[in-house]
Amino acid sequence: MKKLQAIRGMNDLLPGDSPAWQYLESTVADVVQSYGYQEIRFPILEQTELFKRSIGEVTDIVEKEMYTFNDRNNESLTMRPEGTACCVRACEQHGLLYNQTQRLWYQGPMFRYERPQKGRLRQFHQIGIETFGMDGPDIDAELLFMTARLWKELGIADAVTLQLNTLGTSESRADYRSALVEYLAARKDQLDEDSQRRLDSNPLRILDSKDPNTQALLNDAPALHDHLDEASRAHFDQLKALLDAAGIAYEVNPRLVRGLDYYSKTVFEWVTTKLGAQGTVCAGGRYDGLVEQMGGRPTPAVGFAMGVERLILLLQELDVIPEGLSQSVDVYVVAMGDVQAQAFSVAEQVRSALPHLRVMNHCGGGNFKKQMKKADASGADFAIIIGEDEAAKGQATVKFLRDDKPQQTLAVEELLSALQD
Ligand code: ATP
Ligand code: MG
Repeated sequence: MKKLQAIRGMNDLLPGDSPAWQYLESTVADVVQSYGYQEIRFPILEQTELFKRSIGEVTDIVEKEMYTFNDRNNESLTMRPEGTACCVRACEQHGLLYNQTQRLWYQGPMFRYERPQKGRLRQFHQIGIETFGMDGPDIDAELLFMTARLWKELGIADAVTLQLNTLGTSESRADYRSALVEYLAARKDQLDEDSQRRLDSNPLRILDSKDPNTQALLNDAPALHDHLDEASRAHFDQLKALLDAAGIAYEVNPRLVRGLDYYSKTVFEWVTTKLGAQGTVCAGGRYDGLVEQMGGRPTPAVGFAMGVERLILLLQELDVIPEGLSQSVDVYVVAMGDVQAQAFSVAEQVRSALPHLRVMNHCGGGNFKKQMKKADASGADFAIIIGEDEAAKGQATVKFLRDDKPQQTLAVEELLSALQD
C-alpha cells in the first residue's frame, strides 16, 4: 500500500522542534502582554466573500493563493490566508469596535497555495497584532517599539532592520496611481510580464517588482511622496520623530507598498538578510478604511503579522535558542517489583510539592538495568527508585544521575526536600 504523506508545503512539527517554537511563542506572549494586549482567537474557515472583500480581488492572495472549496451545502469557504480580515469580522460581529479602542493579538496557522521553498509554506503560522480606534502616529510607534523589544528579547535584534513608508490616504494614492500609470503605460513594452498585467489591475504593486529592468524604469518614475496629502505627511513625520526619540533605527523605503489593498498611511517591514529571498519576518501597516469597507463604522486601525517559521529559521541560524529547553524530564521514577501503586503515589507527591519539576514514571516493565538505562536516556538529573523494601517502609531511594554523590534512601517527606536543593 502506498504510504500516506503530508500535503506538500504543510509541515509536521516534531518534538525536536517544539522547544524552539515554545521559546518563540512564550517570549511573544510575555512581550505583548507586557504592553497590555489581549488575545483573540477566530476560526480557520471563513466565508470566501470575507477575503475577497477585504484583501482585494486583484491581489496575489485572492487571485491565486487561496484554499477555497464548496462545503456540503455548496457554500464557498476559504481556509484563512491571513488574520486581519478575520479579526475585523470577529470584532464587528461581537461589537468590540463600538466606542472603544482595542489592542489585540492572535496566533495560528494560515494557508496559501504558493510554491513551497525555504521560508515559504502552504500552511504557515503567523502571530498577529491588530489595534482599533486610534488614528495617531503614537500607536504606530507603539507597535514598532513592541517589535523592537521582542527582537531584543529573542536575541535577534542585530539581524533585522526596519523599513518604513507611507502610502497616504486612498485619495492621494489614487492621484499618484494615475501619475504612475501614465508614466508606465508610455513604457509598457519595457515592463516585465507580471507588471504589464498589473498596470491595469494593481499598478502600485509594480513598485515592488523584483525584475531589474522594471526596477530601473522605476528610478525615474513619479514618486509617491510627491503626491502625499498634508495629513499623511504630518503623521509620517511624527512617527519618525517618535522612533528617533526612542532610538529605533529605520530606513525609509519609498518602494515599500505591501501586497494587500487595504493599507493606508504607515506601512513597514522588518527584514533580515540571513534567510535569502524570504527575508521579511514581520510586516504590517495602517488600514483605516478596512472596517468601513467591511460594513462597519469608520474605525482607524493598524497592525502587523510575523511569520513564525521564518523567525524560527532565524533563531536557528543565529543559534540563540537557549539550551536545556529540549530536556523533557528532571526526575525518572523506577519501580522494582509489585510496587506500581506506590511508585505512582510518590511521583504524584513530588509533582504536588515541586511543581516546577518534570516527573516521569517508568511504564512498560523490564528489569532494573533496563529501567535505569531509560532513566539515564531521559536526561533526568534524578532517579527515584521504589523497591519492595522502600514501598513497605514508605521510603524511596534517590540516585543522582549527573552528580558523583552516593544514593540515599529517605522517607518520602525527606525525599521532597532533597529534590528541592
Ligand atoms: P511575501 O512577500 O514574502 O510573500 P507577504 O507580503 O505575502 O510576504 P504578509 O501577507 O504580509 O506576507 O504576511 C506577513 C508575514 O507572514 C510575512 O512577512 C512572512 O513572514 C509570513 N509569510 C507570508 N506568507 C508566508 C508563507 N507562504 N510561508 C511562510 N511565511 C509566510
Ligand atoms: Mg506573499
